[in-house]
Amino acid sequence: MPNQTIKRDVVILGSGPAGLTAAIYTARASLKPLLIDAPADAEKQTTPGGQLMITTDVENYPGFGHGIQGPDLMAEFRAQAERFGTEFMETWITEVDLSERPFQLYTETDQTISTQTLIIATGASAKWLGIPGEAKVPAGFGGNGVSACATCDGPLPAFRNKTLVVVGGGDTAMEEATFLTRYAAKVYVIHRRDKLRASKIMQEKAFRNEKIEFIWNTTVEEIVGTPEEGVTGVRLLNTETGEEQVFPCAGVFVAIGHKPNTDLFKGLLEMDEVGYLKTSGHSTATNIPGVFACGDVQDSVYRQAVTAAGTGCMSAIDAERYLDHLPVAMPSGEEITIEGEHITPDHKAIITPDGHMVPNESEA
Ligand code: NDP
Repeated sequence: MPNQTIKRDVVILGSGPAGLTAAIYTARASLKPLLIDAPADAEKQTTPGGQLMITTDVENYPGFGHGIQGPDLMAEFRAQAERFGTEFMETWITEVDLSERPFQLYTETDQTISTQTLIIATGASAKWLGIPGEAKVPAGFGGNGVSACATCDGPLPAFRNKTLVVVGGGDTAMEEATFLTRYAAKVYVIHRRDKLRASKIMQEKAFRNEKIEFIWNTTVEEIVGTPEEGVTGVRLLNTETGEEQVFPCAGVFVAIGHKPNTDLFKGLLEMDEVGYLKTSGHSTATNIPGVFACGDVQDSVYRQAVTAAGTGCMSAIDAERYLDHLPVAMPSGEEITIEGEHITPDHKAIITPDGHMVPNESEA
């Protein structure tokens, strides 16, 4: 139905551990949250359920002594959010208006969603090298030998018993390379420096794996192949010697980190130079009162499922407090209420919405 307006107190964007935890808490608080997730899209790299949907064993999520598969864990999160009445909607939000409350969100299907609070849990997506041959088919070999997700694509027949390349030197690259050895004949990790960024335990696991070899001080300049065969090799540049070579391989897995999904909020919400949303430090409040952010979209440091779930819980409690007319800590250090009262960082005064300053003292 075109131009239908949906009204809510709480809208959550994103269905990873952060978004679904925010949904569980706000649903249990009888706030009837609407959770919007982007449809699955290989090109835009969106997967309802977030990055755990493309992970196999999750061994570090507390409460699962024997580990759990990523998609199974997310199915549990979702079932729990559904059980308390979370409503789900799968659509792209094309534009947001955060200039006043209620905030307006516009969908690709011409619907308008109006909400008193917004919890942003849109996560992060894999980064690409930006080299020739990397783009999606037909412009390059993306989907025909180039991938950013070993768990999704590694088991494909095209990669079985073949030589594969993983680009990057962080934990993701080590994890992807280790995973790919289940299927590949050999995996070469190509890293631009002579030292890995990955944690010691992940490095050692990769060094011990006989199917993994490292090519140091080397950048991938181009991915080569044919439309029929897909990827046949990578053009490598040794940055120490300047030597170039075409290295034969049947697949390239790019594992060079992630980028927060915040394009929708550019110019509206404060972000760091990479695009991570800035939050208070004392709460999940962004610079706009009533807009909260949780999970990988605001966390460039920890980026774990459990920390995402933890901040999802914080966002839910922050939204609840805000809707209950209680003050929420802002990035500026002051606290703000839904009525627009500002409590100064030293807690000594309240500035009313019409600009008057009154002492923050109890009458007793
Ligand atoms: P990181 O940012 O940690 O590492 C990215 C790697 O890619 C670096 O080695 C970097 O090189 C390289 N790189 C970046 N850009 C380019 C480029 N344009 N060309 C070539 N190489 C490039 O990202 P990760 O995704 O690996 O990890 C992110 C976070 O997630 C980390 O905190 C990590 O610990 C965590 N993680 C944990 C896992 C686990 O515990 N199981 C699994 C996966 C991730 P350089 O080193 O030179 O900067």
